[in-house]
Amino acid sequence: MLCAPFALLAGPGALRRCSAPGCSLFFVRDHPRRRWCNPGCGHRDRQARYYRRKRRSEVSP
Ligand SMILES: [Zn+2]
Repeated sequence: MLCAPFALLAGPGALRRCSAPGCSLFFVRDHPRRRWCNPGCGHRDRQARYYRRKRRSEVSP
């Protein structure tokens, strides 16, 4: 059976899980550095990272 989803995961254009917070969609990685299902998620992930760092630097004296 070629329709098994595992065949997609193991293929060269592997499916990746979106790494943006609150998003768990899968996408086909057509670029080695791509980590999100769409540019909007990439923007959200970068923003979350920035706010986390900012909050931590505010808490520490
Ligand atoms: Zn996403």
